[in-house]
Amino acid sequence: MRVFITGGAGFIGSHLAERLIARGDGVLVLDDLSTGEMSNLEPLVGHERFDYRVGSVTDEPLVAELVDRCDVTVHLAAAVGVKLIVERPVHTIETNVHGTEVVLHCAAKKQKPVLLASTSEVYGKSSKFPFAEEDDLVMGATVHSRWAYACSKALDEWLGLAYWNEKHVPVTICRFFNTVGPRQTGRYGMVLPNFARQALRGEPITVYGTGEQSRCFGHVQDAVEAVIRLLETEGAAGEVFNVGADEEVSILQLAERVRDHCGSSSKIELVPYEKAYAKGFEDMMRRVPDCAKLERTIGFRPRTGLDQIIADVVADQRARLELPAAG
Ligand code: UDP
Repeated sequence: MRVFITGGAGFIGSHLAERLIARGDGVLVLDDLSTGEMSNLEPLVGHERFDYRVGSVTDEPLVAELVDRCDVTVHLAAAVGVKLIVERPVHTIETNVHGTEVVLHCAAKKQKPVLLASTSEVYGKSSKFPFAEEDDLVMGATVHSRWAYACSKALDEWLGLAYWNEKHVPVTICRFFNTVGPRQTGRYGMVLPNFARQALRGEPITVYGTGEQSRCFGHVQDAVEAVIRLLETEGAAGEVFNVGADEEVSILQLAERVRDHCGSSSKIELVPYEKAYAKGFEDMMRRVPDCAKLERTIGFRPRTGLDQIIADVVADQRARLELPAAG
């Protein structure tokens, strides 16, 4: 198949592009390089089945042309990262909502299938664990910008499902849980690359809040496998899937495990949320996916263990910092 990937120079998109090319598929990438990086696509540039454009997902004539040239669209282009979202809420809402409108509008012209990236953030402050796809979403107040991201993605989901229900455009939705791995940058606040970098440099590892909040980290290679299988599953259209692993770890334990893995002497520093983000910032204390629907549908669930994930992220950060590989 020929796959159009919006946001294909980003973290998940570039891994997906690489895996598709390795399988023999064709890939066309659109990225505005706002958070994506050309270096992520370096291994693919020049390959006969790979092509890319630098541009915005809100440029409708361009998106229309690229959607037409492919069999399926994977829409990953979005404003992501809690830090970026809190700092640039206008950009977040406009990019996430308008970009998806454009992609769906173009795909609908010829009933081309679309896989939309959503996020576990949509579950918000829900306290019914684990989070299943049809559970209620529990959002915070509009005065807290963090929830703008969750709402923009929830609106994307509604729009995608509306195109399926009303116009029969095959739209599949993936709610990615904390997806991590090589190439993810800590620049937009993501915790694991930040901890790895801090530990490797011997700097304090900054745990926000009490560190008792927990997450489940999924390896990007597992997420990519799930996406490809969903693209090949006819019954996935009109459905929402959690994509993530369910090994839960507190952020404090994560800091300790990263520090131990690096053999680092970094101290672990608790930083109040107000100092890390903004006054009144709200975090989720827990986030755990129910992976049953994904497994039932595609016969696969993300299962790379946290030790392997930490090892891969530390190795990537070590290379970025140009430190020698671990002995
Ligand atoms: N976090 C942290 N230190 C950092 C970055 C993040 O303690 O340097 C915390 C953050 O407050 C959250 C968790 O780690 O509780 C995961 O943060 P991330 O931004 O990676 O993803 P989120 O799950 O919040 O979308």
